[in-house]
Amino acid sequence: MRHAPTILHLDMDAFYASVEQAAKPSLRGKAVVVGGLGPRGVVATASYEARTFGVHSAMPMGQARRLAPNAAYLVPRFGVYRAISEQVMALLRELSPLVEPLSLDEAFVDLEAGGTAWDEESARLAGNELRADIRAVTGLTGSVGLAASKMLAKIASEQAKPDGLRVIEPGTERALLGPMPVRTLPGVGPATGDHLRRAGITTVEELAEAGEDELVRLLGKAHGHALYAMALARDDRPVVAEREAKSVSVEDTYDVDIHDRLRIGTEVQRLADRCVGRLRGAGLSGRTIVLKVRRYDFSTLTRSETLRGPTDDPAVVREAAARLLDSVDTTGGVRLLGVGVSGLADYTQEDLFAQAMDSRVAKTPEEVVAEAVVEPPEPVAPQWRAGQDVRHAEHGPGWVQGSGLGRVTVRFETPQSPPGRVRTFSVDDPALAAGEPLPLVPDPQEEEPGPRPGHPADAAADA
Ligand SMILES: [Mg+2]
Repeated sequence: MRHAPTILHLDMDAFYASVEQAAKPSLRGKAVVVGGLGPRGVVATASYEARTFGVHSAMPMGQARRLAPNAAYLVPRFGVYRAISEQVMALLRELSPLVEPLSLDEAFVDLEAGGTAWDEESARLAGNELRADIRAVTGLTGSVGLAASKMLAKIASEQAKPDGLRVIEPGTERALLGPMPVRTLPGVGPATGDHLRRAGITTVEELAEAGEDELVRLLGKAHGHALYAMALARDDRPVVAEREAKSVSVEDTYDVDIHDRLRIGTEVQRLADRCVGRLRGAGLSGRTIVLKVRRYDFSTLTRSETLRGPTDDPAVVREAAARLLDSVDTTGGVRLLGVGVSGLADYTQEDLFAQAMDSRVAKTPEEVVAEAVVEPPEPVAPQWRAGQDVRHAEHGPGWVQGSGLGRVTVRFETPQSPPGRVRTFSVDDPALAAGEPLPLVPDPQEEEPGPRPGHPADAAADA
């Protein structure tokens, strides 16, 4: 392990909810919950104000509504989150070529590899500058953890939240970790946590005291060995830049459309096996199983499920693919099928033990939300969704606050305006249309008051 806290972990604060608060002035300082709003929806992100009511991510939406009935409940706007994520990741890549994104709003950066930091002082400086840059470019806050390993850097950013920076000095790791619950360690999910608790182990210190042999006996060789090392704060996992191959997949096109549901099922199993063969050949495992179906009319669907941890087990991939197929209507015939695995990894971030004990699949909240919002199983009639951007011919840009009984309520405000007024329309009001998201941070060229004759930007805007 290195001797300076030069591994940085960035985590944006309540990312989706913070974006919505920045975009919608009337929601600043208020409880905001972003997620799937359908009957099986779950919370993707809750604002800090909503968290005080006990709302947290992955919670069923119904439960969140009971806890915080007056919060704003919004659908995610993934396009906006993705665009902001790209801005943040670009700032990280200025610090080092070794940037490892974990999700849209979270990444590890090896500052030492980038020559950006070599000791505590330079690391702290880089972290503070990064936080200022993120705020300037996106208008949002992120928290930074700095440590000599990935595990501790992630713990540090968690402790820095919200809007903070925390350094864990090399040499102090074990004392810090000791009293923490075992669930703090990567690889310890609910199942492993329960298993350890039944063996009388609840803290990291107790984990270390149990000894390697006992952990191997309890959890199996690979997991026990890895967890013992983590308990001693030994974590040598390198920061790995995004892989070139983000997924491994195989697909087959059929000369004649397949109609037989059983045959389709068999083909999917065969593709799953071939895909795992390739995955193993490359020495990889992955978390997200993807099924692709092109139907007789050339409409193409993809369905995905994300596992609790990476897998290269053919049985697990086959089962997931079969489950995904269950949700696809294949009447009319199928001309192409594909199975892929993405979210590739060469180490275990999540709870592999749980997966080995129980190969049931748990979707991440983002995945559930993505399926519910981005890929509705069947085409649905156009409808107004809470949080959606709209534009009214007379009143200008706004967002849908709610809709029902043939009515839609719109709040007319923009990221730079004061909190706006609410107006109600008929859902089929011809003056109301879907709108484009507005930038959270104004373009500096547009900040200047009045038109600038002959300025190319203004000329373009006039055209
Ligand atoms: Mg975050």
